[in-house]
Amino acid sequence: AKQAGRNRCHFYRRDMNEQAVRRLEMEAALREALDRGEFTLNFQPQIRLESRRLYRVEALIRWTHPRWGAVSPVEFIPLAEECGLIDRIDSWVLESSVAQLARWRAAGVTVPGMAVNMSPVRFAHGDLVEQVRQVLAAAQVPPGDLTLEITERLMMTEEVGVHDALDALNDLGVMLSIDDFGTGYSSLSYLKRFPVGELKIDRSFVKELDIDAANRPLVRAMIQIGQSLGLTVVAEGVERETQSRMLKADGCCMGQGYHYARPMDADAFVDWLRAWDA
Ligand code: C2E
Ligand code: CA
Ligand code: CA
Ligand code: CA
Repeated sequence: AKQAGRNRCHFYRRDMNEQAVRRLEMEAALREALDRGEFTLNFQPQIRLESRRLYRVEALIRWTHPRWGAVSPVEFIPLAEECGLIDRIDSWVLESSVAQLARWRAAGVTVPGMAVNMSPVRFAHGDLVEQVRQVLAAAQVPPGDLTLEITERLMMTEEVGVHDALDALNDLGVMLSIDDFGTGYSSLSYLKRFPVGELKIDRSFVKELDIDAANRPLVRAMIQIGQSLGLTVVAEGVERETQSRMLKADGCCMGQGYHYARPMDADAFVDWLRAWDA
């Protein structure tokens, strides 16, 4: 047993080392990625459940490293947040996605709005509101056509700067959406303190909606919280028609997930939209 214990420890330590090395390598690669043009954007539709019309699209970042291939944002976004690179990355996403929206419109493709994920870290730095203003003005996109997806984590910070930024964005006319609703903190008081317009029910709740009966009351309660506060409710991770039907029956307005479309590059999205609208 002692032997096994030592071995386990040994393997564990080597594993830790490999992890640490990969982390350092990834951080170095991440520092270069923007300048080398290794980031791209994918777009995933959000659908109105009743009419099945396009509500808006969410921009999702993709990183293709020359040696490692595709690296998931689940892996590199937290790292970028820790090593101070997220500001530049999220700024690039904001600029590129709003520019893409303007290009689609110039080409006659009707896309009602763009949703962009914004790390809480980015809010701690004062220039976000000014950047949003500039990006929208440069692309001539109305503020109401931009949604910033933020997390409950951000809502729980005590920093006055964050509260001011959210108010300023709301005054500007930008929509604020709570991403991964239900996974963060149990306190809901932030919903009345902050100018939020939308809730996105996390896909962990939607996942087994039609399989595990225990999920439905939870999802229903989240939809009701949203409705009673006058918020738009979007369900993410909708993979099957049965989920879509249940969500609609329970009063959810919008859905997003593989059932409608996977995240796609800009050209594939236009092809998808043509077929969808046809
Ligand atoms: P998220 O904002 O909750 O994004 C939804 C994730 O669920 C995306 O993964 C999307 O591809 C995936 N997804 C969509 N529909 C389905 C479905 O029906 N089933 C399943 N199983 N998955 C579905 P992705 O693109 O890997 O992004 C993961 C996370 O990385 C995002 O979660 C978000 O937190 C973060 N992220 C992505 N792009 C950005 C970005 O530009 N900036 C920041 N700060 N974070 C980003
Ligand atoms: Ca999101
Ligand atoms: Ca989400
Ligand atoms: Ca998520």
